[in-house]
Amino acid sequence: MDDKSGHSHSELSDVALRVRALETLLVDKGYVDPAALDAIVESYETRIGPRNGARVVARAWTDPKFRERLLANATSAIAEFGFGGRQGEHMAALENTRRRHNLVVCTLCSCYPWPVLGLPPVWYKSPAYRSRAVLDPRAVLAEFGLNLAADTEIRVWDSTAELRYIVVPMRPEYTDGFDEEQLAALVTRDSMIGVGLALSPTNGSPKS
Ligand code: FE
Repeated sequence: MDDKSGHSHSELSDVALRVRALETLLVDKGYVDPAALDAIVESYETRIGPRNGARVVARAWTDPKFRERLLANATSAIAEFGFGGRQGEHMAALENTRRRHNLVVCTLCSCYPWPVLGLPPVWYKSPAYRSRAVLDPRAVLAEFGLNLAADTEIRVWDSTAELRYIVVPMRPEYTDGFDEEQLAALVTRDSMIGVGLALSPTNGSPKS
């Protein structure tokens, strides 16, 4: 499933047109400064995105004390990186293990942890994902190409405006000795929503 699935282009352009009309109205009325809007958009396009979350995950993999802080109080642990604020005021971290896989959805709308993952992918907001992630999570994961062992429990978490989640995927094998930066490169957005795994290192050598 890619970002466009389930949404036609006409639907997207309808939304784009409405946004354009609304922005024009707000600027004309003097309610918003177009430069401020541009700055917000630019920061989510270039500065705030899933690479933020990837750094958090990589540190949790390499620093046991940070991992403890993250699992105990994700909001404050994530704030150590300077990530926080709107749509990320109350965060929880969910750690994947062999026994339990965590999957995040917002059944009501599209609540999502912006400071660590940026803006949500289109499919995250689709009615199909929102309902089916709860009803048949194993089938949804299979559609994302993720086939978990039958004895791995899948736990689905319903994100809300009050509490948003970041999944800490399992650290891939053959990454002994990797530093935080190398590890962060393996952490995908999808793995932090729970619809994917962290990537395997392409040049990984087997553990000795
Ligand atoms: Fe929501």
